[in-house]
Amino acid sequence: MSHQCSSALIKCIDFRLTSAIDKWMEEKGIMDDCDVISVAGISKAIVEDVDSADAKFILNQIELSVKLHGIKTLYLVHHTDCGAYGGHSAFENLETEKQKYNSDMNKAKEVINAKFPGLEVKSILADIKDSEEVVLLEY
Ligand SMILES: [Zn+2]
Repeated sequence: MSHQCSSALIKCIDFRLTSAIDKWMEEKGIMDDCDVISVAGISKAIVEDVDSADAKFILNQIELSVKLHGIKTLYLVHHTDCGAYGGHSAFENLETEKQKYNSDMNKAKEVINAKFPGLEVKSILADIKDSEEVVLLEY
């Protein structure tokens, strides 16, 4: 018996993202049609050292999603104020911080594309505002 879904999404474990990402998946029409992988720092491990245990874990989760569920799209969801990156205070300003996440998502995308040709990788940045409101920007 086989179960298929359209996509997978990799997000941080950060609890502040949960309802915003659920709402985004609802709006996108992929709720219950998307594997959700939660890992602290999202694709940081892949970018820093692709041979690390953490990177292998993430890549293995993607591989399982591809093999078991035939996903066609992978969403990488990085977010601002991520503890794995040292939070806001690790950056000079919000622009520098966003640039770092976008750059990491692009690097992770290259690694994932090379390993899983045919899988479309999309980058999303979840901006957690001071008000705790979360705004998801698709790149
Ligand atoms: Zn995080």
